[in-house]
Amino acid sequence: MFDDWQSIAWVAGSVLGAYGFVLWLGSVVWTYRDMSERTHDGWSQAVAVLLVLVFSVPGLFLYLILRPHETLAEAYERRLEAEALMRDAPAEPRSCRRCARPVQEDFLLCPHCRTNLREPCSGCGRALDLDWVACPYCGAQGPQAAVPVPEPLAAAPPAPAGTMSEPSRATPKRPGPTAAGRSGASTGSHSSS
Ligand SMILES: [Zn+2]
Ligand SMILES: [Zn+2]
Repeated sequence: MFDDWQSIAWVAGSVLGAYGFVLWLGSVVWTYRDMSERTHDGWSQAVAVLLVLVFSVPGLFLYLILRPHETLAEAYERRLEAEALMRDAPAEPRSCRRCARPVQEDFLLCPHCRTNLREPCSGCGRALDLDWVACPYCGAQGPQAAVPVPEPLAAAPPAPAGTMSEPSRATPKRPGPTAAGRSGASTGSHSSS
């Protein structure tokens, strides 16, 4: 019965055909699963499956080259990671407003150029921003509230009163002969008519 070459060829051909069919079907199913992990877009999934369906193994290679780089799960994870990084990072590192070099949050002045950055609170001693009107920790007046008070003007008037009494003591009032002689000279000067 083995001398019937035709039947042997047929069996071998059908085995190879079945093998190829399973391989083709498997690659199509795998492509569909792989693509649905990488995109929700129905059109892209259909094109990928059709590519492997029509071109089989060469189509599979083409798909492997053209498929999206990362899966949806990987993209989601990466997005979560990026968000976590954004959240953990300091909102905005402080820098000196004059020399722009980095300074710490609680520095009172810039260690590089001595610019006044913050003012210690008069109540609790914490560093306050220069534009704050009140201390957020203890409620004391902030640096901005202290600035508009015209203190040098209010303190100025009492000072001249004390200084004016000083020179008055040094000049004694006494009717001298110089004053009488001057008045006599002025009265006797009406001769012409
Ligand atoms: Zn500076
Ligand atoms: Zn305070």
